[in-house]
Amino acid sequence: MEYRKNDIVTLKIEDCGIDGEGIGKADGFTVFVKDAVIGDTVRAKIMKAKKNYGYGRMEEILTPSPDRVEPKCQFARQCGGCQLQALSYEKQLEFKTAKVRGHLERIGGFTDLPMEEILGMEQPFHYRNKAQFPVGRSKDGRIITGFYAGRTHSIIENRDCALGVTQNKEVLDCVIAHMEKFHIQPYDETTGKGLVRHVLIRYGFFTDEMMVCLIINGEKLPGEEALVKSLREIPQTTSVMVNVNKKRNNVILGEKVRLLWGQPYITDKIGEISYQISPLSFFQVNPYQTGRLYGKALEYAELSGNETVWDLYCGIGTISLFLAQQAKMVRGVEIIPAAIGNAKENARLNGFENTEFFVGKAEEVLPAQYARTGERADVIVVDPPRKGCDETLLATIIEMQPDRVVYVSCDSATLARDLKYLCERGYELKKVCPVDMFPNTVSVETVAQLEKREDGSL
Ligand code: SAH
Repeated sequence: MEYRKNDIVTLKIEDCGIDGEGIGKADGFTVFVKDAVIGDTVRAKIMKAKKNYGYGRMEEILTPSPDRVEPKCQFARQCGGCQLQALSYEKQLEFKTAKVRGHLERIGGFTDLPMEEILGMEQPFHYRNKAQFPVGRSKDGRIITGFYAGRTHSIIENRDCALGVTQNKEVLDCVIAHMEKFHIQPYDETTGKGLVRHVLIRYGFFTDEMMVCLIINGEKLPGEEALVKSLREIPQTTSVMVNVNKKRNNVILGEKVRLLWGQPYITDKIGEISYQISPLSFFQVNPYQTGRLYGKALEYAELSGNETVWDLYCGIGTISLFLAQQAKMVRGVEIIPAAIGNAKENARLNGFENTEFFVGKAEEVLPAQYARTGERADVIVVDPPRKGCDETLLATIIEMQPDRVVYVSCDSATLARDLKYLCERGYELKKVCPVDMFPNTVSVETVAQLEKREDGSL
């Protein structure tokens, strides 16, 4: 049967798509329904119809799934941040495991997967150490802050996101009160006028240091001293800054940062290692799970202290320093020069003398260094962005023949593609472990261990 736009269908949700949407069938016609959960029976309105499938909007839950839970956040459905809050955490972990498994089997062609149990959190809320709140005006003219609704730039007012730290609300209350008192206008994207664009808050989970950075469309903020004074009443505040962004685009941060009070960075720890984090640095957002992710990468590297290791796509050297605790030498490569600056500084701060960092593309630096020195690597670790590794890089890895490759991935589809390449050329997939870095969202990280086949067979 074919359906058209605006038709109403009743569906039993039997599957979950990779974006967390519910999938059900009505007379052989597949319907994707955002916010529906496996096990629900729902009434949905078809919003868009193709020949054999369509997209529906959930109108009513007729019978709720036994795995449905009350979302902790009242804005979970509208907000673009969380997709899975209505699903029990146990089922979220099952969903993520199945997603990784599905990609490795379908794209990677792997069978008998050596999968370890997913590393989930005990408390899957309030785990984010960073939040960026857009500031704007409500329809009735009040200054508001919150999060963008899914795929739009309209702000859903919410100062108390369930994924962030509880101090966020205190900071936002303080900033908005200051704006009202000093008649400071929020930035308006449509006109390019107004001053305050975003509030960035970073929190050190293991040090309780907090940075507040206002992103402004100008150089100065009225009443800077008064703002510092009121923010300092929150005991965790250790730095207050402004970041200047006068460009009319979607990029949140500009390049210029001015310190109003305190330290120009916060420090946080992952395991035994301290990292300095400035407003512009990339740092994993879930510090509890980051320790477990890097711990897994370190475990899979199987280091004894004599190894030469490459850490490709190293960012600010977070994984590199973790590895340096147990390796002879670690070499990191990263495309962003400022991140390499941070990596070197972090190595120095923690007293590591067995690290070296290179600015450039992994797929260019590694072949060039190998051609120059001819030095072999015992272990190569990669942690690429979503698009995965460049094929030139994979070819260089094959040429260098490390004993092990540890692949840290934020996209299991490109992970599967790259593992297939390596396993067709002499490597064997030994272990895979998904890690839940982003509970309540559909994202999942994965760590995989590959070993060179002893007999060199394909
Ligand atoms: N391992 C780090 C960062 C991982 S994010 C951590 O865990 O914190 C991926 C990193 O790859 C980003 O820092 C990005 O800037 C960098 N990157 C993207 N393309 C790259 C390339 N072709 N070569 C090297 N680094 C690249």
